[in-house]
Amino acid sequence: MKAAEKRLVEWLRDAHAMEEQAEQMLKAQAGRIENYPEIKQRIEQHIEETVNQGKQLEACLARYDESPSTVKDTTGKMTAMGQAAGGMFSGDEIVKGCIASYTFEHMEIASYRVLISTAEEAGDAETKRICEGILREEEAMAAWLEQHTPQAVHQYLQRDEAPGADAKR
Ligand code: MG
Ligand code: FE
Repeated sequence: MKAAEKRLVEWLRDAHAMEEQAEQMLKAQAGRIENYPEIKQRIEQHIEETVNQGKQLEACLARYDESPSTVKDTTGKMTAMGQAAGGMFSGDEIVKGCIASYTFEHMEIASYRVLISTAEEAGDAETKRICEGILREEEAMAAWLEQHTPQAVHQYLQRDEAPGADAKR
């Protein structure tokens, strides 16, 4: 196996673990949002995309007779749960969530760019095509968050001032 191919398989596994982590994190976030329906809806859409991305990565791995790494996936899940739990106790959960999601999407974007270059080096046109499709979904999510974070902050600050309103999530 060429070096590029060996790394491609390894990094596809990393991406799969990343998507498992994304799924956990997004589900935890969506489940807790009460007062920001637009954000909740966009996150729910991205959960569907994320689950599908995981399946597409599994298909890429299967073509090399490989399966996702269970150990890494478990570690990823625990990290995601830790992050979600950490956000629960802050009074500005919705804003912290926007920051965390924006950061996570950019980690995904960088990872898929690496995978696209590696697939190209390895001569795997199908994996390259799949990763380009996933990349577009991550870029769309990042762009949405970029566009909607100012409004979320505005709403949060307004609700924070109104007596009795629950601003945090
Ligand atoms: Mg993703
Ligand atoms: Fe994503």
